[in-house]
Amino acid sequence: MTEKNIIELLQSKKYRLTNIRKSIINCLFHEHKHTISDFINHIQKSINEEVNVSSVYNTLEFLVNEGIIDITIDPVTKEKSFELIDKNDFHIHIYDRENKKEKTIDISEKLMDAIKKEIKTDEISNIKIFIEIKKRN
Ligand SMILES: [Zn+2]
Ligand SMILES: [Zn+2]
Repeated sequence: MTEKNIIELLQSKKYRLTNIRKSIINCLFHEHKHTISDFINHIQKSINEEVNVSSVYNTLEFLVNEGIIDITIDPVTKEKSFELIDKNDFHIHIYDRENKKEKTIDISEKLMDAIKKEIKTDEISNIKIFIEIKKRN
Protein backbone atom coordinates (compact mmCIF):
# COMPACT_ATOMS: atom_id res chain seq x y z
CA MET A 1 0.00 0.00 0.00
CA THR A 2 1.18 3.50 -0.81
CA GLU A 3 0.36 6.63 1.15
CA LYS A 4 -2.13 7.55 -1.60
CA ASN A 5 -3.80 4.11 -1.35
CA ILE A 6 -4.34 4.52 2.39
CA ILE A 7 -5.79 8.03 2.00
CA GLU A 8 -8.13 6.79 -0.74
CA LEU A 9 -9.18 3.79 1.32
CA LEU A 10 -10.10 5.99 4.28
CA GLN A 11 -11.88 8.50 2.04
CA SER A 12 -13.89 5.71 0.45
CA LYS A 13 -15.04 4.75 3.93
CA LYS A 14 -16.01 8.40 4.52
CA TYR A 15 -13.51 8.93 7.33
CA ARG A 16 -12.45 12.47 8.08
CA LEU A 17 -8.82 13.15 7.21
CA THR A 18 -7.59 15.53 9.87
CA ASN A 19 -4.09 17.00 9.78
CA ILE A 20 -3.07 14.63 12.56
CA ARG A 21 -4.35 11.61 10.66
CA LYS A 22 -2.61 12.74 7.47
CA SER A 23 0.71 13.37 9.16
CA ILE A 24 0.59 10.04 11.01
CA ILE A 25 -0.03 8.26 7.71
CA ASN A 26 2.83 10.21 6.17
CA CYS A 27 5.09 9.19 9.07
CA LEU A 28 4.49 5.52 8.39
CA PHE A 29 6.40 5.86 5.14
CA HIS A 30 9.56 7.57 6.29
CA GLU A 31 10.73 5.04 8.85
CA HIS A 32 10.04 1.40 9.46
CA LYS A 33 8.78 1.84 13.01
CA HIS A 34 7.57 4.76 15.11
CA THR A 35 7.02 5.00 18.84
CA ILE A 36 4.31 7.33 20.14
CA SER A 37 6.93 9.99 20.91
CA ASP A 38 8.42 9.63 17.40
CA PHE A 39 4.98 10.38 15.99
CA ILE A 40 4.50 13.38 18.24
CA ASN A 41 7.94 14.81 17.40
CA HIS A 42 7.50 14.29 13.68
CA ILE A 43 3.98 15.72 13.62
CA GLN A 44 5.05 18.75 15.59
CA LYS A 45 7.64 19.45 12.90
CA SER A 46 5.28 18.92 9.99
CA ILE A 47 2.22 20.84 11.12
CA ASN A 48 2.09 24.20 12.76
CA GLU A 49 -0.26 23.38 15.55
CA GLU A 50 -0.11 22.01 19.05
CA VAL A 51 -0.25 18.20 18.89
CA ASN A 52 -3.09 16.76 20.89
CA VAL A 53 -1.57 13.58 22.34
CA SER A 54 -4.89 11.82 22.79
CA SER A 55 -5.75 12.37 19.13
CA VAL A 56 -2.45 10.68 18.24
CA TYR A 57 -3.44 7.70 20.40
CA ASN A 58 -6.93 7.70 18.88
CA THR A 59 -5.58 7.78 15.33
CA LEU A 60 -3.16 4.94 16.01
CA GLU A 61 -5.93 2.86 17.53
CA PHE A 62 -8.11 3.67 14.53
CA LEU A 63 -5.39 2.60 12.05
CA VAL A 64 -4.80 -0.64 14.00
CA ASN A 65 -8.54 -1.39 13.88
CA GLU A 66 -8.59 -0.66 10.14
CA GLY A 67 -5.82 -3.23 9.64
CA ILE A 68 -3.41 -0.63 8.28
CA ILE A 69 -0.79 -0.71 11.02
CA ASP A 70 0.43 -3.18 13.59
CA ILE A 71 1.98 -2.88 17.03
CA THR A 72 5.38 -4.27 17.95
CA ILE A 73 6.85 -4.21 21.44
CA ASP A 74 10.48 -3.34 22.09
CA PRO A 75 11.99 -6.37 23.85
CA VAL A 76 13.97 -4.25 26.31
CA THR A 77 12.04 -1.06 26.96
CA LYS A 78 8.66 -2.75 26.31
CA GLU A 79 7.71 0.41 24.48
CA LYS A 80 5.13 0.09 21.72
CA SER A 81 6.02 0.85 18.13
CA PHE A 82 3.76 1.03 15.13
CA GLU A 83 4.45 0.01 11.58
CA LEU A 84 2.58 -0.53 8.35
CA ILE A 85 1.09 -3.90 7.57
CA ASP A 86 2.26 -4.66 4.05
CA LYS A 87 1.47 -8.02 2.55
CA ASN A 88 4.21 -7.45 -0.01
CA ASP A 89 6.76 -6.98 2.74
CA PHE A 90 6.65 -9.87 5.16
CA HIS A 91 9.77 -9.71 7.28
CA ILE A 92 11.37 -10.89 10.50
CA HIS A 93 12.57 -8.52 13.18
CA ILE A 94 15.89 -9.68 14.58
CA TYR A 95 16.96 -8.13 17.83
CA ASP A 96 20.61 -8.33 18.83
CA ARG A 97 20.55 -8.04 22.60
CA GLU A 98 24.26 -7.24 23.05
CA ASN A 99 24.31 -4.39 20.58
CA LYS A 100 20.72 -3.37 21.30
CA LYS A 101 20.10 -3.20 17.58
CA GLU A 102 17.18 -4.38 15.59
CA LYS A 103 17.27 -5.39 11.95
CA THR A 104 14.70 -6.76 9.60
CA ILE A 105 15.22 -9.56 7.12
CA ASP A 106 12.87 -10.85 4.46
CA ILE A 107 11.00 -14.08 5.05
CA SER A 108 12.46 -16.70 2.71
CA GLU A 109 10.28 -18.44 0.17
CA LYS A 110 10.85 -21.72 1.97
CA LEU A 111 9.60 -20.36 5.30
CA MET A 112 6.69 -18.63 3.56
CA ASP A 113 5.68 -21.92 1.94
CA ALA A 114 5.87 -23.70 5.28
CA ILE A 115 3.66 -21.04 6.92
CA LYS A 116 1.08 -21.23 4.11
CA LYS A 117 1.06 -25.01 4.33
CA GLU A 118 0.58 -24.86 8.09
CA ILE A 119 -2.41 -22.54 7.97
CA LYS A 120 -3.67 -24.03 4.69
CA THR A 121 -4.09 -20.79 2.75
CA ASP A 122 -2.22 -18.50 0.37
CA GLU A 123 -4.15 -15.50 1.63
CA ILE A 124 -2.07 -14.00 4.41
CA SER A 125 -2.41 -10.33 5.24
CA ASN A 126 0.01 -10.06 8.11
CA ILE A 127 2.78 -12.10 9.74
CA LYS A 128 4.56 -11.24 12.95
CA ILE A 129 7.91 -12.89 13.61
CA PHE A 130 10.36 -11.60 16.14
CA ILE A 131 13.71 -13.21 16.95
CA GLU A 132 15.89 -12.15 19.82
CA ILE A 133 19.53 -13.19 19.62
CA LYS A 134 22.22 -13.52 22.26
CA LYS A 135 25.66 -14.63 21.12
CA ARG A 136 27.54 -17.33 22.98
CA ASN A 137 30.11 -15.87 25.41
ZN1 LIG B 1 7.69 10.05 11.35
ZN1 LIG C 1 8.69 -4.55 10.78
